[in-house]
Amino acid sequence: MTSKHIVAIGGSDAGISAALRARELDPGSEVTVVVADAYPNFSICGIPYYVSGEVTHWTDLAHRTAEDLKATGMMVRTNTRATSIDVSGRRVALRKRDGRTELLSYDALIVGTGAVSTRPPITGLTGPGALGPHDGVHLLHSMGDTFQVMRSIEERQPAAAVVIGAGYIGLEMTEALTSRGIAVTQIEALPEVLPTVDPELGALVHDELKAHGVEVITGTTVSSVRAESPGGILQVKATGPEGTPILRAADLVLIVVGVKPDTALAVEAGARTGAKGAIEVDEKMRTSLPDVFAAGDCAVTHHRLLGTTWLPLGTTAHKQGRVAGENAVGGDRRFAGSLGTQVVKVFDLVAARTGLRDHEALSAGRGWMPMTSASRPDDHKVYYPGATPIDIRITGDRESGLLLGAQLVGRRSAEISKRVDLYATALFHEMKADAISDLDLSYTPPLGSPWDAVQVAAQSWVREQRP
Ligand SMILES: Cc1cc2nc3c(=O)[nH]c(=O)nc-3n(C[C@H](O)[C@H](O)[C@H](O)COP(=O)(O)OP(=O)(O)OC[C@H]3O[C@@H](n4cnc5c(N)ncnc54)[C@H](O)[C@@H]3O)c2cc1C
Repeated sequence: MTSKHIVAIGGSDAGISAALRARELDPGSEVTVVVADAYPNFSICGIPYYVSGEVTHWTDLAHRTAEDLKATGMMVRTNTRATSIDVSGRRVALRKRDGRTELLSYDALIVGTGAVSTRPPITGLTGPGALGPHDGVHLLHSMGDTFQVMRSIEERQPAAAVVIGAGYIGLEMTEALTSRGIAVTQIEALPEVLPTVDPELGALVHDELKAHGVEVITGTTVSSVRAESPGGILQVKATGPEGTPILRAADLVLIVVGVKPDTALAVEAGARTGAKGAIEVDEKMRTSLPDVFAAGDCAVTHHRLLGTTWLPLGTTAHKQGRVAGENAVGGDRRFAGSLGTQVVKVFDLVAARTGLRDHEALSAGRGWMPMTSASRPDDHKVYYPGATPIDIRITGDRESGLLLGAQLVGRRSAEISKRVDLYATALFHEMKADAISDLDLSYTPPLGSPWDAVQVAAQSWVREQRP
């Protein structure tokens, strides 16, 4: 490998992972990370736990401190925005916060511009005079957004909040606000919360929210948010399933309805886009532009079961960034592909999934005949105190017996996250559901069973496969 000047645009999971890998493999390389804000390498996944107060200081969310990053030999330029890429001249135009501009040359460039929050077309949230953080109305993606939420909490001392959206971030934020003593109403347009899992499992999350005093309103679309007076109480108007009008007053409104890839910089430079408008990359994270790589939420995701898709997740951003960094210094690494493995804690409940659900497998175009079975094994031997059931749904191909996906919901003590990882490993190695019973898994009564819950659920699927 020859020494080069590597430039990464974006200082979050993808950009920093790329920079770290480039420095690790080629310590002679010059690596510069350009970051639009002042918070390189912050764990934005931890934002809900700072808002809840469990993480006491925002600086604790840093994966690495400025000193740690400096020690790796990379140069991090904060408060510096990349404004354009000159592909043929291999230069990036930069604008610093004070307005000064500069051109930075590169041998290889990694675009890690991430994603931005989606702002839904709700009256009062778009167009001139749209409500914003000063009115107690917030989007949430960056550390900057987080500080604004915290300012609203301090200044407005909210008694009531409305969270629009019940995906995993919306759920985590509902828990965070509830734990601060704020009465939360969570409004979701789809029929059940956490729509990334089957509704039977989403219903368990719904019950957990209600058990903690959250008002959950599903199948309901918010149509407008307005302030009674400047900076005053917010009125959230929505329409329920049968057209029922719903009105809630709140001191704080959080809009967490998803993200979209931030691709403007790469697209203006001529990069092709793919799934959901994300930057097209091959498995080596190369864009359609010479010497330009992309990684993380701004780029498409290669999925081991679906082909090319878009799945914005921190775990994926780290892995893609690492591959891009390695290849930027002359390596030949491929991103092995995602399985969409994800997990969320909602109060004392944990919900996780990996691979495909029934309808996703059916529409994958791979000729699978998906079948999903449900079971409820205990997390450990029931005679040892504290045993709790885990709701597990396994999806497999009825014809071949191939495991296609798994979804789990259980109490926080039930190791849901590591159990879904076991299914993710089985999926990665293209195992059949039946073969899961052959795995030599650990056992002691306080922690498991001779047949672990993941095996019991797989056996239940196999029984249903062979009627
Ligand atoms: C509240 C919350 C909780 C989450 N929880 C989880 C979780 O539990 N598990 C999980 O897997 N994922 C989670 N995620 C998702 C995960 O955080 C993202 O997938 C991940 O951060 C994506 O990393 P990224 O580097 O691609 O982009 P981003 O994190 O979006 O970062 C983009 C970076 O690019 C910079 N940038 C953008 N444009 C420019 C420019 N023109 N010039 C210079 N810099 C620029 C930004 O300042 C930023 O540094 C969560 C996200 C949020 C918001």
